[in-house]
Amino acid sequence: MADPGGIRRLCVYCGSSPGNDPAYREGAVILAQALADRGIELVYGGSSKGVMGVLADAALARGGRVIGVMPHSLVRKEIAHDGLSELHVTETMHERKSMMADLADGFIALPGGFGTLEEIIEVLTWGQLGFHKKPCGMLNVAGYFDRLFDFMSHAERAGFLRSEHRGMLLHAPDAEALLDAFDEYRAPDVAKWRD
Ligand code: AMP
Repeated sequence: MADPGGIRRLCVYCGSSPGNDPAYREGAVILAQALADRGIELVYGGSSKGVMGVLADAALARGGRVIGVMPHSLVRKEIAHDGLSELHVTETMHERKSMMADLADGFIALPGGFGTLEEIIEVLTWGQLGFHKKPCGMLNVAGYFDRLFDFMSHAERAGFLRSEHRGMLLHAPDAEALLDAFDEYRAPDVAKWRD
């Protein structure tokens, strides 16, 4: 197993649904295998369903360590995975989010819906405000996030997003390239607030 360097644990946000293109599940498998091969532990939402379940199963099958974090209100609804290395059950969604953020050295989104987007954008905004200096990125499986990147260009042109902050959201179509970019990431020293 490779030395994970500065990144020992990554948090991956992804859909509780599988999506309707097998490429989304394949992307999750490839990312999970890349993490396990690099000796990076996976932190995720703890479900056995959807892209989340595929991701956890693939990391475990490759010999990786997988830490699930789930609020107790979702343990039955999202069907907590019963084969994880660790499963933390929190009281609230807010505790879940902060535990995931504290445990991880960086954050990746795979294809998913509102929950996935909310989680990655929230942690990205924490980085933008300087609350942490950890890398955030999207694995753009089968171009899933292309229209979101188009929207971000629009937000930049419209004067709501600084290019330095936009650049904080790393992205790549393949897992190895994204993980290499995470290794090289240095948070920009640009204040969110303009004078
Ligand atoms: P989705 O991408 O909508 O399938 O959601 C992916 C996961 O995000 C779900 O399994 C939830 O556990 C989680 N999630 C959904 N909404 C939120 C939220 N507001 N804050 C944090 N996590 C959420």
